[in-house]
Amino acid sequence: MISYLISKNISKEKIPIRPVKGQMICFPPSDIPNPCMVMDEDRYIIPRKDGRIVVGSTRENTGFDASTTESAFAELRDFARQLYPALANVEPDAHWAGLRPSSPDSIPYICRAEPFTNLSLNAGHYRNGIVTAPASATLMADIVLNRTANIDSTPYQLVR
Ligand SMILES: Cc1cc2nc3c(=O)[nH]c(=O)nc-3n(C[C@H](O)[C@H](O)[C@H](O)COP(=O)(O)OP(=O)(O)OC[C@H]3O[C@@H](n4cnc5c(N)ncnc54)[C@H](O)[C@@H]3O)c2cc1C
Repeated sequence: MISYLISKNISKEKIPIRPVKGQMICFPPSDIPNPCMVMDEDRYIIPRKDGRIVVGSTRENTGFDASTTESAFAELRDFARQLYPALANVEPDAHWAGLRPSSPDSIPYICRAEPFTNLSLNAGHYRNGIVTAPASATLMADIVLNRTANIDSTPYQLVR
């Protein structure tokens, strides 16, 4: 198995997961008529129940650098203002960045890390680690406990 991993350029010490930075901003509660969720390719606007408006997100390959940038702030702010002109005179009051763990094909690894018998992977969920958490955890538990899984684990192998 180790020689197979090496032949696939996958070292057993280094799983090929890289960070993809995402920046977001947030507007304070504003008087916007009929606020609703908007998805536009990489960008989205999410009105929260408390009236705040979250705007995301960038996709940046800048390594383990989770700093925020003025250019991303302006880009996200202007995207929101274009869709919600009522935000023209409202300044975002929050700006942050996080790192998404991504495999090369953005599909997570949920598997045993062979040839080790005591190491398993549930990683590389990229943009969807929150929404897929229940299903990922269920599959991982089935694998670790050697149970028959309801979810096909084939797409989530380390070597694929
Ligand atoms: C801006 C942004 C928006 C997102 N929006 C969504 C969304 O709407 N829906 C969705 O489903 N997902 C979303 N995601 C993606 C989601 O956050 C990730 O898929 C998810 O967090 C991955 O979970 P994880 O536990 O695998 O990794 P992480 O959440 O990255 O957790 C890894 C943890 O390991 C710690 N760690 C790292 N190295 C070490 C070490 N050597 N020793 C000890 N600890 C270490 C880190 O500090 C971190 O706490 C978003 C991500 C970002 C950045």
